[in-house]
Amino acid sequence: MKCPICGSETEKGKLVGDRYALKWMNEKKKLFLGLWAVGGQVIDSRKTNLTLSRPFVNGYKCLNCKKIILAIE
Ligand SMILES: [Zn+2]
Repeated sequence: MKCPICGSETEKGKLVGDRYALKWMNEKKKLFLGLWAVGGQVIDSRKTNLTLSRPFVNGYKCLNCKKIILAIE
């Protein structure tokens, strides 16, 4: 896939979280007590709820402009 920002070729991959799901936070939202992303949108492409799996979302990374394009569901 070509980068929609600079037009360079991108690398396909995934952004992987550790223990907890990744969340999207609008720039106007602040972390609750500076720690918790309350009210954030969960970004996780897992089809199961297995505690042994890791949250992830598929996407593309542009090595030229250093942007990551994520395919949220
Ligand atoms: Zn780019």
